[in-house]
Amino acid sequence: MKVALDSGLFATMMFSYNVVENHNKGLFTHAHQQKIGTFAMKPLAGGFIPDARRALRYIAANPHVNCLLVGMSSPAEIEANVMALDEGPLAPEETRQLEQWAAQAGYEFCRRCGYCLPCPQGIDIPTVFLLEGYYDRYELQGWALERYRALSTPASACRNCGLCEVKCPYLLPITAKLAKADKKLAGD
Ligand code: SF4
Ligand code: SF4
Repeated sequence: MKVALDSGLFATMMFSYNVVENHNKGLFTHAHQQKIGTFAMKPLAGGFIPDARRALRYIAANPHVNCLLVGMSSPAEIEANVMALDEGPLAPEETRQLEQWAAQAGYEFCRRCGYCLPCPQGIDIPTVFLLEGYYDRYELQGWALERYRALSTPASACRNCGLCEVKCPYLLPITAKLAKADKKLAGD
């Protein structure tokens, strides 16, 4: 991404940024310094962060973010988000509490980086967790079940070799999470 930002070819950058996935914060600073407009994708981590109000205020406090891309499904959600932003940036104590929560909760959240791949059994680990997220948080249960059943290798094919877990930079308990996702998504 830095190479792209330095190329002079782009006017804007769009990248994931939320309290759980804030390790790329430096990219927003870099883009800002290059006078490139920035869009923060997934400020609510795909619905993973329960306190939407604080999550939005956390991102909006970064002066190097020009625009937040938030999925909204009703006028009420638009109003709630606008009201949250009207409250201004989080106070330092609120920021500390939110980051503390994220540090704990982050052990459950797949960032879809793909470092755990390849799985010798052929399981597409990040896609399994992505579909589980759609099932749990997007009210798209039917769609998630259908997509899961279309995968060439279900999570139940896991042989607990542990290769993926040593490669995950976020120390996710992948095998336990896969078993949980499979129970949910492969159900009759
Ligand atoms: S533990 Fe399971 S999911 Fe992970 S690499 Fe081994 S077989 Fe694949
Ligand atoms: S390495 Fe960890 S965070 Fe990255 S895709 Fe795999 S399970 Fe998700």
